[in-house]
Amino acid sequence: MSVQGFELIETRELDELNSTGRVYRHATGARIVSIANPQDENKVFGITFRTPPTDSTGLPHILEHSVLCGSQKFPVKEPFVELLKGSLKTFLNAFTYPDKTCYPVASQSEQDFYNLVDVYLDAVFHPRLTPDVLKQEGWHYEVEEDGTLTYKGVVFNEMKGENSSPERVMAELCQQILFPDTTYGVDSGGHPQAIPDLTWEQFEEFHKDYYHPSNAWIWFYGDDPEDRRLAILDEYLSGFEPRQIDSNVARQPRWTQPRSVQETYSVSDQDTDDDGGKSMIAVNWLLGEPVDYETRLGLQILDYILIGTSASPMRKALIDSGLGEDLCGGGMETELREIFFSVGLKGVAEVDEARVESLVIETLQRLAKDGIDIETIRASLNTVEFRLRENNTGSYPRGLILMLRSLARSLYDEDPFVPLGFEKPLAAVKARAEDGSGYFEGLIRDHLLANSHRATVFLRPDAEHDAREEQVETERLAAARATMSEDEVIQLRNDAQRLKELQEAPDQPKDLAKIPRLKRGDLEPKIRVVPIEQTTVAGAPVWYHDLFTNGIVYLDVGFDLRTVPQQLLPYLSLFGRCLFEIGTEAEDFVRLSQRIGSRTGGMWAHTLVTPQRHSRDALARFQVRGRAMLNQMPDLIDILRDVLLTVNLDNRERFLQMVLEEKAGEEAGLIPGGHSVVGLRLRSQFDEAAWVTEQMEGVSYLFFLRSLVDQIENDWAGVLAQLQAVRDHIVQRSTILVNATLPDADRAQLEPHLAKLIEDLPAGDGKQAVWTPSYQSGHEGLTLPAQVNYVGKGVNLYDTGYTLHGSVGVITRTLRNGYLWDRVRVQGGAYGAFCSFDHFSGLISFGSYRDPNIADTLAVYDGAGDFLTSLELNDDELTKGIIGAIGELDSYQLPDAKGYTSMVRNLIGVDDAYRQKMRDEVLSTTAKDFRVFGEALSGLAAAGRVVVLGSKEGIEAANAEREEKLEVLAVL
Ligand SMILES: [Zn+2]
Repeated sequence: MSVQGFELIETRELDELNSTGRVYRHATGARIVSIANPQDENKVFGITFRTPPTDSTGLPHILEHSVLCGSQKFPVKEPFVELLKGSLKTFLNAFTYPDKTCYPVASQSEQDFYNLVDVYLDAVFHPRLTPDVLKQEGWHYEVEEDGTLTYKGVVFNEMKGENSSPERVMAELCQQILFPDTTYGVDSGGHPQAIPDLTWEQFEEFHKDYYHPSNAWIWFYGDDPEDRRLAILDEYLSGFEPRQIDSNVARQPRWTQPRSVQETYSVSDQDTDDDGGKSMIAVNWLLGEPVDYETRLGLQILDYILIGTSASPMRKALIDSGLGEDLCGGGMETELREIFFSVGLKGVAEVDEARVESLVIETLQRLAKDGIDIETIRASLNTVEFRLRENNTGSYPRGLILMLRSLARSLYDEDPFVPLGFEKPLAAVKARAEDGSGYFEGLIRDHLLANSHRATVFLRPDAEHDAREEQVETERLAAARATMSEDEVIQLRNDAQRLKELQEAPDQPKDLAKIPRLKRGDLEPKIRVVPIEQTTVAGAPVWYHDLFTNGIVYLDVGFDLRTVPQQLLPYLSLFGRCLFEIGTEAEDFVRLSQRIGSRTGGMWAHTLVTPQRHSRDALARFQVRGRAMLNQMPDLIDILRDVLLTVNLDNRERFLQMVLEEKAGEEAGLIPGGHSVVGLRLRSQFDEAAWVTEQMEGVSYLFFLRSLVDQIENDWAGVLAQLQAVRDHIVQRSTILVNATLPDADRAQLEPHLAKLIEDLPAGDGKQAVWTPSYQSGHEGLTLPAQVNYVGKGVNLYDTGYTLHGSVGVITRTLRNGYLWDRVRVQGGAYGAFCSFDHFSGLISFGSYRDPNIADTLAVYDGAGDFLTSLELNDDELTKGIIGAIGELDSYQLPDAKGYTSMVRNLIGVDDAYRQKMRDEVLSTTAKDFRVFGEALSGLAAAGRVVVLGSKEGIEAANAEREEKLEVLAVL
């Protein structure tokens, strides 16, 4: 194959991927990696530029947002949003890394895929960058009524949110401290204090310099024809001349002495009083740039050996020390030019800070000297090998993960295919691990212990932190204001007004029509069906899904959760962890963990709690999941039996460790996951499923964990009795349901083992407990030290007269990608806003993410009903909504997810007839459906409940302004 302008550099068979890879060079210097995989319909394209920043203004990040705000061929405000609204995309996003910016898209439909590619290529090469775009996405001044200035901007606010999370601050510090002399020494995302330094000239220049084919790495993957790939590229690349571009990432000069740094993070006053504060400490090493892939793989496996499971020796030493609550540090970071390793503890008292660093180093010394348990090494090797072979990327397209893996080397001009193959390096590492030469111990010595390029980061709580940052900002704004003439202030007001008008002005229909899109007739009218056969084994229900799984068995073993008394519900997550992380009567948890690691592809427990179709009661099940190669399956089932029947719950010390980890995890999740916290808390006021989940995962669970710490101390016997009661209620044959995803031909091998497991379980009577949820009434303001808010509001639409219709999927998408996006994100400056509707409970809930506002956002939600009833919906917009909703229904799933989804649907009464009816209703949605829904939604303003998570000051200010008062509850 030859297309003018492209030189084929290399063709390689990629056995591990069942694919053929080709590398092309375009005349402009653009590097193209083209992977043909006829078995994968989930096609992926990505274009990446090397974008090393020189300061922390967030320039690459703001540019990433901005190029998606309209381009030459697609002159609308946000083509990206038009694609979100009306494509079958299975992935559509952009990422800024410390040294690169990636623009990936994916779709299962070839035409849709090329539509996405077209819009993305035009966006990156021909964006309509204007000072207004920089203002909107980056930063600008706004003049308040009293004449003072404030900063506004999407990225400005996004990074304020990011910097409210101590975990993110820590991760950024660990990287920056190790690389002070390179581009990795600054924040590519942008620090709120530095973002306002960015000028339009720098912004425009950066795009000109770096968004050029000579600085581009392009990726195609999937089952589409390769000549079509080159043809579309040619359209864009041929307009450019090759150019010399200096975007090299320098290597960091080495230190001869370790360093350390101390910083503070924000906490509320009460936090620092109670236990003297909680520091985070991480020890970091710069490992450099090993050229051979074997060493790189070896280091990744070493990472898993040291901290991959709760039984891993480094993790265990840190947790056993009792110095902190949970690990911090990101482990082995391999996506930048040079590898670094980071490990430490969070939740550390100030007096213990120094001991963390010495403990990390002593542990490494001990492992290097005494050797690592060979069973731990084997378990880690098996786990990593299983993951490489399974290549289970969850909801991410496989081709995207492969692209990122390849870029981790090709961006520095190395072979793009080497990181995609693993057989050879894996075989070499396995051989070395078993040859008695102490391979991993050697890696510890050479790359960590003998490495003086080490830095320890201390991040300490400080109740004054926020006030100090605010003062810096206020003074800076005041100084800027002082230099302005009255005319300039008037100009600023006018600018802000003009920006607002631009944001509010609708795109021209003729411009919107330029965005390429499928037609309604291109959509598949029939639902996709997952095979299921419902049978019984040893008297118990077993559901099979006959799918190709590449030799793997996916097993879900579930029990009824409604047998568990209400007051025990908060124990469920801990009980699930106990099964695999506390040990059995015969094995301590290290041995058990080694057995799981070396004989399976992983096992864990979780709860499945959801509203259902034919009942007002929640479906509630306790699920154990496991995956293994077919020949490992008897081991998997043996382990299941051992943990279910002989888990050794009486281990106070280990249980306390898990409770502290859970608590630290819940606390760390409050800021990055604030929208989920708010959403769950809100829904828990309306339906049983959410109420139960809130007890097990929400703010109520966090409060439970805090009191449990004392209870373990004072009344272990009482806690143990509760845990044992949970097990006795859960583990019974009478409520078991097994779900297995594997090819029919392999069933015969599974069944005898399954039958034995089922027979060994205690019979039980399946007696149901009575749950009496105490639904909150009123509105809540949950406070924590953050500079952003998460604002939620919801109402039950079945109470306000709505009857379920499939069109609701189209309508909520339209609200999300249009109404809410424009008002809460673009105009309000929040990072995002959502709404979702539950078919079975009837609850519609709205939520915002990293939001500078509260009252304004709530007013937007309240206006949604009127917006829908008065909406003049043209056919074009309606079609977009329908395409997007179908895309959501047909989201891409790997076999394990298909089997699981099918099980859930069958449990909650969602049959194929129902799904087809909903799909038909999506496809035949009309403008009238929008009005009917809008009328029901008008009830939100008066009848809705509000939950906000945010700063105390923000919530108090909202209370002063609004009639619906938020009841204040401090969570952090
Ligand atoms: Zn962003």
